[in-house]
Amino acid sequence: MKYISTRGQVAPTGFIDAVLMGLADDGGLLVPQSVPKVTADTLQAWRKLSYADLALEVFSLYAGGEIPREELKKLVDDSYGTFRHEEVTPVRKLNDNLYVLELFHGPTFAFKDVALQFLGNLYSYISRRTKSIIHILGATSGDTGASAIEGVRGKEGIRICILHPHNKVSKVQELQMTTVDDANVLNLAVEGTFDDCQRIIKDLFADVGFKRKYHLRAINSINIARLLAQTVYYFYAYFRLEEQGVKGNVSFSVPTGNFGDIFAGYLAKRMGLPIHRLLLATNENNILERFVNEGVYQPGEFRGTYSPSMDIQVASNFERYLYYLYGEDAAAVASLMAGFKAEGRIEIPAEKRKQVQADFAAYGVRNEECLDTIGGYHGRYGYLLDPHTACGVAAVDKLAEQGEVAVALSTAHPAKFDEAIRLRGIPQTFPPQIQALFDKPQFRTVVGGTNVEIQARLEKFF
Ligand SMILES: *Cc1c(COP(=O)(O)O)cnc(C)c1O
Repeated sequence: MKYISTRGQVAPTGFIDAVLMGLADDGGLLVPQSVPKVTADTLQAWRKLSYADLALEVFSLYAGGEIPREELKKLVDDSYGTFRHEEVTPVRKLNDNLYVLELFHGPTFAFKDVALQFLGNLYSYISRRTKSIIHILGATSGDTGASAIEGVRGKEGIRICILHPHNKVSKVQELQMTTVDDANVLNLAVEGTFDDCQRIIKDLFADVGFKRKYHLRAINSINIARLLAQTVYYFYAYFRLEEQGVKGNVSFSVPTGNFGDIFAGYLAKRMGLPIHRLLLATNENNILERFVNEGVYQPGEFRGTYSPSMDIQVASNFERYLYYLYGEDAAAVASLMAGFKAEGRIEIPAEKRKQVQADFAAYGVRNEECLDTIGGYHGRYGYLLDPHTACGVAAVDKLAEQGEVAVALSTAHPAKFDEAIRLRGIPQTFPPQIQALFDKPQFRTVVGGTNVEIQARLEKFF
């Protein structure tokens, strides 16, 4: 299996190099040269597999013989052995038409652990194999940082530095990152916004001398390994519904920000999983809702919401979908993206819009509606949704067709976003692992937002 760029200017590369490359060298995103097809017989053979064994099968298709099967098995076993639930991503039935796929049983209580536990172990494997130190640099608005740190803390051959905006992440998110005392972890709290953190990271990665000297690696959601890890739970959930006697017309509703999670679902569908529809839920930052419904991709004004991990105006994985929408025509994608850079918008013709609407149905959830959904489902089912999951569930309420069965992806544990839950007066008890964070000492350095200062800190740490 080889990987190529959505913009067509990168020579086909193997799995490990694709993981290390992160963003493609031509500015595009890496995709498999051809998507492996899973036949009905294979689906049949996969139905009874445990989560880790299913992940092993999926990764075997994509790692193309580069990683021996026993090594790959160890990687998935180590990655999913850290989850608190024996099923890793269990499915909960709320009613005949609605199931919740709980993706938050990993170490940081957010779905990003599913991919980042694996990526952490994979980087560690690559470091051992190539006998080199891997330096990871990333920025976070909250969940990614905690999850990435948890994925690599204490691992030999890896050093990680995460920038977060000082005092602008939720309390639990901050504690999850900064109470880690392993020597290979550096938390920099930047006096500024998340955008400032991202700009600094971008500048440092663009500094070729610096990037080469330290072999800087990224952990953001454009990394192909993260997407592949996320396709697994679509298969897993589908099989669990089958076991419960659900037949046909299974759709998935996905709380969406950077389009990584829902793209994994789209990929699972292209592989052959019979997904009926993908419901794309956004919050008030609804660039993707507008794209699906109106055919125009254009950032709007940033809105702060109760689901901050979806507060995104430009969805970094969106280009991967464009690639398939345009029939894997890299030249067409390169020209669309050049147009986006120049004009700040992409408009697709009516016939493409029809295809988009066959692939997705979209709904943007207003702030009040998000809280109403949390309150409503708590009242009716005694089940507490976090604000991100609530957007996905609200989209099901809005878009579901007669007879359609929807699986709503639950991307975070409600304890991570207690600030929003409390607005509806719903008390919750924190899981002991989260409660314990409040008594631990914090390790972080507060820094100003200049590149020079941060570069100096990194030189010292690396
Ligand atoms: C990251 C995140 C999302 C959005 O996922 P994307 O892959 O960026 O679309 C949704 N919910 C939570 C809790 C997240 O952390």
